[in-house]
Amino acid sequence: MIEKTIDFRYYSSIRIGGIKTIKIAQNVNEAIELSKTHTIIGRANNTLISPNAKNLFCLGDEFDYIHDNGDYIEIGAKSNNRKVFLYFKEKNLGGIEFLGSLPGSIGGTIKMNAGMKEYEIKDSIISVCINDDWIESSKINFTYRHSNIDGIITAVRFKKRNGFMSNLELLFKEMRKNQPREPSLGSCFKNPKEIPAGKLLDMVNLKGFRIGDMSFSKKHANFLVNLGNGSFDDAIELINIAQNTIYKKYKINLEPEIIIIKGE
Ligand SMILES: Cc1cc2nc3c(=O)[nH]c(=O)nc-3n(C[C@H](O)[C@H](O)[C@H](O)COP(=O)(O)OP(=O)(O)OC[C@H]3O[C@@H](n4cnc5c(N)ncnc54)[C@H](O)[C@@H]3O)c2cc1C
Repeated sequence: MIEKTIDFRYYSSIRIGGIKTIKIAQNVNEAIELSKTHTIIGRANNTLISPNAKNLFCLGDEFDYIHDNGDYIEIGAKSNNRKVFLYFKEKNLGGIEFLGSLPGSIGGTIKMNAGMKEYEIKDSIISVCINDDWIESSKINFTYRHSNIDGIITAVRFKKRNGFMSNLELLFKEMRKNQPREPSLGSCFKNPKEIPAGKLLDMVNLKGFRIGDMSFSKKHANFLVNLGNGSFDDAIELINIAQNTIYKKYKINLEPEIIIIKGE
């Protein structure tokens, strides 16, 4: 096991988290052992990390691979979504076209059941290696931006479906044009059944609302954006204000889509 110093102000997509020395698991046994006391981080594109957070770990380069095994493609959990997207595109394989517009690692993407529009990662996979056991995807409970995976994802087997869909790639690129460019974690809250979270935030005048350098974006209210030197505490305060205001006015519980790792 090795250690690495990471500056999360550059590593995480929302540019928050401070500088930390974290452990790197170099094989499955180390990953399982570390997971008993530490929290795994993928590419931190969906995780708001306190500068006081401790005991984090990442997977090492041994988990960054793409293998064509004939009937399926096996991909290490550390692999970058964009790299996987480019591989599928080059091989004319379909099903994961949205990964070109979705930042993250394959491990984090499976854990979150990430996706765009009606496309979700769960639909393209055969099985997931969790704590060294291959589990069929049908045995995993995947719901909207959530899975019940309770262990370390080390690799994933993807279906081999012929026909990369360039029209989908363009559709997802187009969707991104309407979203803020500032550092964020994507959508901050899950959409309640009743009404989209962005609309609710707009209805209570929180679109563009700012504390310090953190703000609900003027372009898309459900994106919590860092306008410069945004802090973890300001982000949490905004999340609390949004949840309290919307509950008071509409009796709707806004559930964060992002993962929050607090300090001890
Ligand atoms: C600009 C922007 C736009 C986005 N748009 C979308 C979107 O349209 N749709 C969408 O679904 N998401 C979106 N996201 C969120 C993000 O892209 C996805 O959730 C992505 O899949 C997160 O991957 P990650 O590696 O960064 O995960 P992280 O943020 O590092 O981790 C997420 C969770 O997964 C866990 N985890 C990470 N790796 C593993 C592993 N190997 N084993 C077990 N658990 C693990 C972490 O502990 C954490 O709980 C967006 C983010 C940004 C910044």
